[in-house]
Amino acid sequence: MDSELRDLYQEVILDHNKNPRNSGVLEGADHAANGHNPLCGDQVRVELLVRDGRVEDVKFHGVGCAISTASASLMTESVKGRPVEEVDALFAKVLAMLTQDGETEFDESDQQLMALAGVKEFPMRVKCASLSWHTLQAALHKSGVPATTEEK
Ligand code: ZN
Repeated sequence: MDSELRDLYQEVILDHNKNPRNSGVLEGADHAANGHNPLCGDQVRVELLVRDGRVEDVKFHGVGCAISTASASLMTESVKGRPVEEVDALFAKVLAMLTQDGETEFDESDQQLMALAGVKEFPMRVKCASLSWHTLQAALHKSGVPATTEEK
């Protein structure tokens, strides 16, 4: 990754941490889960409104480090209005980007998620970035079960 791109991504993270999108409580949410990353202490709650297999609305709140907050903010922006199958596919891509070698290709509309790619160089932060995504999956597919970045 060249340094210009790195700076740009850094800026995206800082911006989303400072001004998180879709942060707060979602009135009338029908899917929700709590997530916890014990390594860093990040806690997040993701709340969703799903209609006809589509994420109609999504919000998050919690306490966490800059990476976890920025990742949750980016996540809500990316999945809002999308069919659940697309959200699942996106989750798989983000996880691959964070944990696997090589470049992960994103559609143009999801390019901003590549801002999170930089955390791969910091293994301690990978779970900060993946927490909100694991929590999203828990909310969509096993509502009520707390998500954790640790294997059970
Ligand atoms: Zn963290």
